[in-house]
Amino acid sequence: MKTHVRVLVVGGGVVGVSTLYHLAKKGWTDIALIERTELTAGSTWHAAGLLPLFNMSYTVGQLHKYSVDLYKKLPAETGQDVSFHVSGNLRLATNRERMDEYYKYCGTANTIGVPFEVISAAQVKELWPLIDLGGSGETPSIVGALYHPDDGHIAPADLTMALRKGARARGAEIYEQTEASAFERTPGGEWKVRTKQGDIIAEHIVLATGNYARETGRLLGLNVPAIPVEHQYIVYDESPELVAYRKGGGRELAVLRESDQSYYLREERMGWILGPYEKGAPARFADGVPDWFGRSLFPGDLDRLMPHVEAATRRVPALENCGIKDIVNGPISYTPDGSPLIGPAWGLPNVWLNEGHSFGITAAGGSGWQLAEWIVEGEPGIDMLAVDPRRFGAYTSKRYVVKKNEETYRNVFTIHFPDEERPEGRPAKTSPVYDRLNARGAVWGQRYGWERANWFAPPGVERRDRWSFRRSNYFEHVGNEVRLMRERVGVIDLTPFTKHEVTGPGAEAWLDRLVANKVPSRIGRMALSHALTRRGGIRSEFTITRIAAQHFYVVSAGAAERYDGDFLVKALPADGSVGLRNITGARGTFVLAGPKSREVLAQLTDTPLDNTSFPWLTAQVIEAGLAVDVYALRVNFVGALGWELHFPIEYAHSLFDALFEAGKAHGIGMVGMRAMESLRMEKSYRMWGSDLTTDYTPLEASLDRFVRMNKGPFVGREALEKQLEAGVPNRFITLEVHGVTDADPLGNEPLFDAGGRMVGRATSGYYGHCLRKSLAIGYVKSELSQPGTRLAIEILGERKQATVLRESPYDPDNLELRA
Ligand SMILES: Cc1cc2nc3c(=O)[nH]c(=O)nc-3n(C[C@H](O)[C@H](O)[C@H](O)COP(=O)(O)OP(=O)(O)OC[C@H]3O[C@@H](n4cnc5c(N)ncnc54)[C@H](O)[C@@H]3O)c2cc1C
Repeated sequence: MKTHVRVLVVGGGVVGVSTLYHLAKKGWTDIALIERTELTAGSTWHAAGLLPLFNMSYTVGQLHKYSVDLYKKLPAETGQDVSFHVSGNLRLATNRERMDEYYKYCGTANTIGVPFEVISAAQVKELWPLIDLGGSGETPSIVGALYHPDDGHIAPADLTMALRKGARARGAEIYEQTEASAFERTPGGEWKVRTKQGDIIAEHIVLATGNYARETGRLLGLNVPAIPVEHQYIVYDESPELVAYRKGGGRELAVLRESDQSYYLREERMGWILGPYEKGAPARFADGVPDWFGRSLFPGDLDRLMPHVEAATRRVPALENCGIKDIVNGPISYTPDGSPLIGPAWGLPNVWLNEGHSFGITAAGGSGWQLAEWIVEGEPGIDMLAVDPRRFGAYTSKRYVVKKNEETYRNVFTIHFPDEERPEGRPAKTSPVYDRLNARGAVWGQRYGWERANWFAPPGVERRDRWSFRRSNYFEHVGNEVRLMRERVGVIDLTPFTKHEVTGPGAEAWLDRLVANKVPSRIGRMALSHALTRRGGIRSEFTITRIAAQHFYVVSAGAAERYDGDFLVKALPADGSVGLRNITGARGTFVLAGPKSREVLAQLTDTPLDNTSFPWLTAQVIEAGLAVDVYALRVNFVGALGWELHFPIEYAHSLFDALFEAGKAHGIGMVGMRAMESLRMEKSYRMWGSDLTTDYTPLEASLDRFVRMNKGPFVGREALEKQLEAGVPNRFITLEVHGVTDADPLGNEPLFDAGGRMVGRATSGYYGHCLRKSLAIGYVKSELSQPGTRLAIEILGERKQATVLRESPYDPDNLELRA
């Protein structure tokens, strides 16, 4: 056994072996994998082997596509068959909302390049002759389906063996019966991994330990939010109808998914495998995998399965004529949002996670591909935020993760509405004024564990969302909030913002190298600044305000607390010249904005608020009402005259009440997150995480004014120089979409030129309530970015005409902001 390697992968399931394979493929061959028992002994050996390309996430969709493409090539490369049955994949719809979901997905699939077809009920019958199209009694009619001709199912153990062969052929080593029992940092900055067979020193370690993720994490002091849930499938005996169909020359039937009944069905040795995602499936091993479990399974729970068995039997009557051979009930790792954890561990150098896989057979190829890229190149090749382990924070307590994972499991097949807000594990984190907002009719959503008011139901209006892909019950009320902000004065509670304090003699120079903009040189100035990847992509967005000579206040997205915090901590100089403090919980934030905001704030402070004393894009430390030490930033994300008030948290109640008292005469009111979406869209403001990602540079995002190429070195500068020389391939645009009656763009819609070629994608969209226009923002090939250019956008399967607008279609000269 080697005692020193560059990378040590811990865990020999399909995910770990794929990571090893891809590292070797990238040319790092001084690598090894250790497995506590034998390869595939975790969840991999009993997986059903399905490879669904369908996924609503742009990132996960790309990972799955890569896997499916790779698995087709592996046998030729390695000489190991993987039993990939490209039988296709058929997802049924029995209602309009389900078809909306499929059409929404088609937009994402188009932008990724995944082939699919939307087909009719008659075509379903042609493809799947043993199906009952329904329409009578308890079996609803099929109204259409989504068909992927390119995926199917594979033998998970064979796949793992093919990856193993490919890795070993390139020099990687694999040691079975070798369990990692402890991790220590060496004085030289490497990792010492203890095993009974001896220690292994590694520069990097990758944890791919499946159901053991929490225990392995604990050995390193990490609370990994991955807890398995029971998942079962039934194996049926031979099916006479299926035998007859195949003997009659019928091709292998596509994997069938009746989403509205929450099950999948596929052929298996002339019989069937039926896998439901049931209600009531419990989370397991929250405190670790007990010794007795090993390679075993849980007893089957037929009661839980029965409703799905009955539904499937109604849809496929052939099931009635074959007996049940076996029930496989195994642990399937889950995370609170159902996506895996792929990327760096927080707080620890050179520790990488590839954990939390619930579709690990499907995702193994893609996750190994991108993680290897990340380790070897220092950053991934595609935007990975949707699967980055740091998208979760310290709030993922055991009970939270258990509740959320059980919820995610039972919702695998429910319709994924874009405005969906699931109830479990809530409320967890609340702003101090939660009760006050509740009293004002808040309809809550959740992000990063925080409760956020999406909109406010006026008295007499039902306080709930009717989730939809189209305009819904809250449309009119959100519109009223938008107009309140534009015409009078509104308050948004943005307490969840991530807030850091950067201090010390080295603070300015350090920040300056991290971001592309110039850090403000004068006290009271602020700068919107972007930290870039080496490839020039946008990693983070910070608003940096200079509070004092050696004191900067750094604000970023609420959901980026761990993501940005980890980045900042890891980038700190070792010489102690920079102090960094996460003060997210110590300060609250109210946005006070609208034409009357100055009059409201003036009643609470002696600080002059006129344009000369307090110009746009400046900040002052003020008193407001009874609150002291309030950072008042004359900036906001809604494009109105106004201030962001960042106050010591203990003043939340008194400041809130004072604002509403002072604003009464001006008709002040609360504004929610959905109105903010409409307001920011009208101003072409890009949102970090959806519009600003590592996939695009600030030049492509048309943020050139926030990039100072001549200020000195910063991460990403060389990539930007190259891009400027070669020509910026894409440009950010704002689009007006024509002819929309009820389905506005929401992001991830493909854009087409006049000739019907795909030329870009929308990254966000919403209805602009003041402009009375359906709006989208996104990226398009540079030559098509001029205002007036005519494009088409596909929304829920329909092509709509769209026109590129001048940036910031509402108040393009910012007259209201500067008022
Ligand atoms: C019933 C069922 C059906 C499924 N069907 C599908 C499907 O059709 N399609 C699909 O994509 N997914 C499916 N899955 C999910 C899939 O099985 C998993 O996502 C996948 O196997 C995860 O692979 P992994 O490598 O992450 O974990 P695992 O396969 O669990 O491997 C982790 C390995 O790490 C080892 N290990 C743990 N701790 C240590 C340590 N300290 N030192 C050394 N080694 C360690 C373990 O022994 C284990 O071998 C199914 C799951 C279940 C339960």
